[in-house]
Amino acid sequence: MKNWRIWLSPPDVGSLEREYLLQAFDSNWIAPVGPDLAAFEADVAARVDVPHAAAVSSGTAALHLTLLALGIGEGHTVLVQSFTFAATAFAVKHAGAQPVFVDSEEATWNVDPGLVEKAIIDLAAQHRKPRALIAVDLYGRCADYDRLAAICEHHGVLLIEDAAEALGATTVSQGRERAAGSFGVAAVLSFNGNKVITTGGGGMVVSNSEQLVERVRHLSTQARQPVGHYEHHEIGFNYRMSNLLAALGRAQLAGLDAKVARRREINTLYRQHLGDLPGVAFDPPTTGRNCWLTCITIDPAKSGGVTRQQVQQHLASQGIESRPLWMPMHRQPVFVNTPAYNNQVSNRLFGHGLCLPSGSALSDAEVGTIVKHMRECWPSS
Ligand SMILES: *Cc1c(COP(=O)(O)O)cnc(C)c1O
Repeated sequence: MKNWRIWLSPPDVGSLEREYLLQAFDSNWIAPVGPDLAAFEADVAARVDVPHAAAVSSGTAALHLTLLALGIGEGHTVLVQSFTFAATAFAVKHAGAQPVFVDSEEATWNVDPGLVEKAIIDLAAQHRKPRALIAVDLYGRCADYDRLAAICEHHGVLLIEDAAEALGATTVSQGRERAAGSFGVAAVLSFNGNKVITTGGGGMVVSNSEQLVERVRHLSTQARQPVGHYEHHEIGFNYRMSNLLAALGRAQLAGLDAKVARRREINTLYRQHLGDLPGVAFDPPTTGRNCWLTCITIDPAKSGGVTRQQVQQHLASQGIESRPLWMPMHRQPVFVNTPAYNNQVSNRLFGHGLCLPSGSALSDAEVGTIVKHMRECWPSS
């Protein structure tokens, strides 16, 4: 792994994390259960404004168990936002179900509600009506839940929210502000090292349904029956988050507002200092987004020939990490035979898009350095 001078989205931890971690350590709750685990679940649930939460070892595990808890598996079809990180689609395969990919809309970069409805009607006609839709809040921007929820409800399709990138984001839905993680039958969060807050690795299922969350908790702890001996009626998983990591998560959550505020500031700085470059456009400026990563697109027809690849390479030569936008699932070799409903939106974004360093510990001076090197790619600007 390259040791970058400036990373894309590194962990942002401080003395509070150290303190909480050592407290948990000294209390001897190093087992996978303990008081910090329940407290972290309660803190996140309160933050997202949803009553129930189960902490697990990753966002991917959270998605997997959500699908299983909803009874989704062998023989079932699940619509998946194509423009996402592979984990969203992998979880559907882990559950034994068949993903079908649906492309994005320009307004949110998330799954296109019109195309979702077309896919549902189309698949139903082939006797493969989807059981569920996984919508993603990509780059920390909520999908259009007013429309998606109405379509899913109308057709009897379960809506699952992949909010792995979106903790701290909000959106206005039916006239009121709601948190990312509060939509659908359940939502999934990630505390991977590159996300807005981290436990070094971890995830959570949050839901209004106590039954669903209890089922996730049960499956995540080897599906052990509540009896004195080791008795199992079904296949379980060892997916529970450990108490030490939950302690770290509690400290991180206490800093969530500040971290989101900083990521938003960084997004504003990039817009101010790069907005005039020909061919450069920014991610949609929707209100409430957490600005997990600032994304630009570079249209070579308008940029004087400057491409995303050139900019990425030039930044890399200066020790600065940047990354293309997610490669859509319908383009992934591993999913070459998976059905997909495309409209070219994610193809274009993948072809021209670049994520810029956006970590909440990034200083103004570092943003200045990045801006300076980016502008070098447009010598006449
Ligand atoms: C990070 C991420 C996941 C997976 O989370 P992990 O904790 O890394 O397993 C799922 N979906 C999306 C959209 C993500 O960005």
